[in-house]
Amino acid sequence: MKITSSFVPVLAVAALLASGLAVPVHSQAATEAQAQLWHERALTVDTHCDTPFKLLEKGWDIGRYHKTGERGSGCQDLPRMKEGGLDASFFAVFVGQGPRTPEGHARAKKKADAILDAMDAMYEEYPGLCGRALTPADARRLEQEGKRAIFIGMENGYPIGRDPALIDYFYRRGVRYVTLAHTSDNDICDSSTDRRDPEDRGLSAWGRQVVRRLNELGCMIDVSHVSDRSFSDVLALTRAPVIASHSCARALSDSPRNLTDDMLLALKKNGGVIQLCILNDYIKQPPANPGRDQAFAALWKKIDDVYGGWGGIKNKADRDRMEAEYDAIDARYPVPPVHVKDAVDHIDHIVKLIGIDHVGIGTDFDGGGGLADCRDVTELKNITIELARRGYNEEQVAKIWGGNFLRVMQQVMDLAQKK
Ligand SMILES: [Zn+2]
Repeated sequence: MKITSSFVPVLAVAALLASGLAVPVHSQAATEAQAQLWHERALTVDTHCDTPFKLLEKGWDIGRYHKTGERGSGCQDLPRMKEGGLDASFFAVFVGQGPRTPEGHARAKKKADAILDAMDAMYEEYPGLCGRALTPADARRLEQEGKRAIFIGMENGYPIGRDPALIDYFYRRGVRYVTLAHTSDNDICDSSTDRRDPEDRGLSAWGRQVVRRLNELGCMIDVSHVSDRSFSDVLALTRAPVIASHSCARALSDSPRNLTDDMLLALKKNGGVIQLCILNDYIKQPPANPGRDQAFAALWKKIDDVYGGWGGIKNKADRDRMEAEYDAIDARYPVPPVHVKDAVDHIDHIVKLIGIDHVGIGTDFDGGGGLADCRDVTELKNITIELARRGYNEEQVAKIWGGNFLRVMQQVMDLAQKK
């Protein structure tokens, strides 16, 4: 752990707590110290980040420590994850939705393979810093070894195309959850945010086949991003609990990406878990800001036209220029900051509604996730501090930070019937 001067008093109290001496627990420093200890002792799991997309950037090195807030540093790297006390993370193999044609599906599979190859290279390059995790037991072992446990999730089932063999193929390559859809409808099911086709058809016949096979393999089904009808179709069909790898509560923020109270109650009945996403717009609906919307739409169009999308920017100077343009728009049309306390309001709501056993955290770091006071992985403990302030105890904090999620993952595996 990197020690900064502001942490010293906190660490002093932590030392006292560890020594078993009585410490008044009502002071702010004591609460923070206690939260830090809990954070260190818990097996912490983040169930969604887009860091693999940084892996594909030339010159960016996941084994190197990058400073928080520095341009291009991203939200995490392996040394920063260690500093932030994050033990395990699901790296997303994300492929944006494209044409639903054989060619489109073939291209998507190729993109997914390229990301999986980059992940394989990471495990090989940094065996002292991280390890491939396929099961909860792997996460526990790697935590003991002081290494980051890196799982793989697939965000968008698009690369599976319509080929049942590819479900097994991606599972063999290490994928342990599949987010059935992304921001547009696909062949598996409808998305919560497809504006071109507002009709919600739910899960398709092919999607039903995908759900059944994922159950048989013991691979988790992720209902983040899917439409409300897809969500209920999946829950009616699945034999195993499901996860929402990065979503919030719609009762507090009216985004179609969030789960309504009815959906949360259904999730509890299913035995699944919602992993709170710390992305501004999901936590608090931003006020209308048409200038910002137009400026960003123009920037994305330019990036699409010139580079074929963000992932197509190959050279660092171009990427720095586009990031500077992004920052300039952000500065010109600011949105009100969203804080950790706003995120923990969602956790409070979910816990009140469905209990402590069905909630966790999926940051969406490097995919838009991050808050004013939780900008990157080194600041994750601010969530634990806020939980401690609100009276959550260590056992509850450990459940939120990974216990609940790993329980669900184990159940999904135990229910598998491999052919
Ligand atoms: Zn997402």
